[in-house]
Amino acid sequence: MIKDLLKDKVAVITGGTRGIGYAIAETFLEQGARVIICGSKPASAAKAVQKLQSAHPGCPVSGIAPQLSSVQAMTAAFQDLVDHYGHLDILVNNAGISARESLYDYDEAAFDAIVDLNFKAIFACSKAAAPFMKAQGGGVILNTSSMVSLYGQAAGCGYPATKFAVNGLTKSLARELGPDHIRVNAVAPGVTRTDMLAALPQKMIDAVSAGIPLGRVGEPQEVANVFLFLASDLASYVTGAVVSVDGATQV
Ligand code: NAD
Repeated sequence: MIKDLLKDKVAVITGGTRGIGYAIAETFLEQGARVIICGSKPASAAKAVQKLQSAHPGCPVSGIAPQLSSVQAMTAAFQDLVDHYGHLDILVNNAGISARESLYDYDEAAFDAIVDLNFKAIFACSKAAAPFMKAQGGGVILNTSSMVSLYGQAAGCGYPATKFAVNGLTKSLARELGPDHIRVNAVAPGVTRTDMLAALPQKMIDAVSAGIPLGRVGEPQEVANVFLFLASDLASYVTGAVVSVDGATQV
């Protein structure tokens, strides 16, 4: 196992309190990063920090809960981090919610909420982080997309629509920010074993797995490993990519 791929890097991970984001936070800490996780509430961020500290005593992790879709709030949060740590190296825009409702039942407020978190928050966090990264000579922005950003899905159109938008933002910002030495990539997970999946009966998980060429759903660690590669200097010439981590799922 390669060690210290992210030694002394300062990494912010939105939605780092559980699931894929938690696995990214733990992996980055194991590779020497200083990690700040953003949760939806101070209490959930604090709980995740406590869990990480019990697993890795003394690890440099802290938690915050700013409003991710506000450029002003995120600029203030990142200014605090830069004042404290001196730099901001990696931003992982991972927080997201899903949707399953049909178009006929889709509530306008629910559509606004998914656009706000899954899409606008990535714009706001990137806009707030980029000036700090540019001033220090570079950085890395990583976004969590989804396999449905390639195919769409038959219900809950807000979810795939926002993930298509995430890919568009990723490819566009990679082109815009490349000259400032800021790399921008996305990871598109397939069905991954998080809380979302834990709520489903095993029979349903077996049925989903049968349609995946690798014959099983993904683990959060398998997704986090790809984030680690993209965050590290091993990916120094990779930008504007959307990397699938889905066992070759075809919908
Ligand atoms: P999860 O529900 O386990 O975690 C979601 C995270 O987002 C949590 O940390 C939560 O606190 C945070 N969050 C939710 N609402 C928030 C808000 N308003 N403000 C700040 N943070 C908020 O989900 P997960 O499966 O780990 O999903 C993480 C990302 O991966 C999402 O972007 C999701 O779309 C994507 N994804 C998941 C799967 C999967 O099968 N699990 C597949 C493809 C893509």
